[in-house]
Amino acid sequence: MKTVCLKQPGDISLVDVPEQRREPEQVLIKVRSAGICGSDIGAYKGVNPLVSYPRVIGHEIAGEVVEVADDEQEFKVGDRVILEPYVYCGKCYPCSIGHTNCCENLTVRGVHIEGGMAEYVSHPRHLLHKVPAGIPWHLVPMAEPLVIAMHAVQQAEVAAGQHVVVTGAGQIGLLAAQYALTLGAVPIVVDPVDERLALARSLGVAHTVNPAGADAVAGILSITGGRMAEAVIECSGDARAIRGAVDYVSYAGHIALVGWPKGDIPMPTALFTKKELTVRGSRNSVGQFPESLRLIAEGKVNVEALLTKTVSMDETPAIVADIAAHPEKYLKVTCVL
Ligand SMILES: [Zn+2]
Ligand SMILES: [Zn+2]
Repeated sequence: MKTVCLKQPGDISLVDVPEQRREPEQVLIKVRSAGICGSDIGAYKGVNPLVSYPRVIGHEIAGEVVEVADDEQEFKVGDRVILEPYVYCGKCYPCSIGHTNCCENLTVRGVHIEGGMAEYVSHPRHLLHKVPAGIPWHLVPMAEPLVIAMHAVQQAEVAAGQHVVVTGAGQIGLLAAQYALTLGAVPIVVDPVDERLALARSLGVAHTVNPAGADAVAGILSITGGRMAEAVIECSGDARAIRGAVDYVSYAGHIALVGWPKGDIPMPTALFTKKELTVRGSRNSVGQFPESLRLIAEGKVNVEALLTKTVSMDETPAIVADIAAHPEKYLKVTCVL
C-alpha cells in the first residue's frame, strides 16, 4: 500500500509498504482523508525532537471501517470514523486521573508511531469516533485541530459573557475563537498579520488587534471597558505573544498555553502573584471528539473557511515541502485518498 513517508528530515515521498493488516483488539480502516498539521511540517523540517525516522506522517486521519473483530459491537464495516491519534498507556499517574492527553508514555501517530497517511491503518477501537453524515471527507480531519482548540478554551475556563484574547490567528487560534463564540464568550483575536485578522472578522469575531501596528494593551483595555480579558488562549508559541498574555489578562484571569514556544520564555512571575493568575498548559485533548464533530456537522464552527486547499495523496509530498518553504501561503491543507 502507498504511504507518505519521511525517510529523514527534508526527504518525503510516496513509499510502498506491505498492506496493513488488522491488529488484535483493533479496527482496520481504509483512510479517506488526512490533514497536514504543523507537527507534520516540524517532522519534515527535523525540528520536532520526538519524531524518529523513517516515519509515515499524519495524525489527523479519517476513513471507512473495512474490518472489525468478530465480537465487535460498536463499529461495523462501512462506518465513517475519525481516529483519536493520542495513544495513551492507561497506567501512569496522569492516565489514572483521566488526563490521558498528557500520558507520560503517550505515543502519537505520525510522531512516535507510524502515522495515518497511508491507504490503510489499524487503530485501537476505543480511540475511534463515528463521523456524522453530512461532513464531507475533506473536512473531517479538521475535527482534530478543533479538539485541540476546544481543550485550550476549556483549560482557560472560558464562560459566557467573558472576553477571551486569542493570540495567534492560525488554525488553532481561529478555531479557539469560534469555539469561544459558541460558548457565548467575546473573542478578541491578536495577530500581526492583517489578512488573518480579516479572516477572523469574517468568522464572526467582533474584535481584532494588530500588535504590530498599535498598542495591543490599550486596544484590549478599551474593548473590555478597563477590565482586560478574563481569559487568554495563547496559540502562537511566539515569545512576545506569550509575554503579552500576562498583560492582556485581567486580574484573577486565566491563561491557557497551547502554542509550543521554540525555547524558554522569561516571564514576570510577580505579575502572576499580583493578578492572581491561573496559568495552564494545554496539550492535545481528552473526550472532545464527539462535540467537535457535532459542532462541525451543525455548522457552529466553520472549518471550511480555514482550508487553503485539498490535494491528492500523490500531491502530498510536494505540498508538505512547499508548506515548509512558504508557511505564509497556507492556513490548512487536507489530503483526500
Ligand atoms: Zn494536528
Ligand atoms: Zn499513561
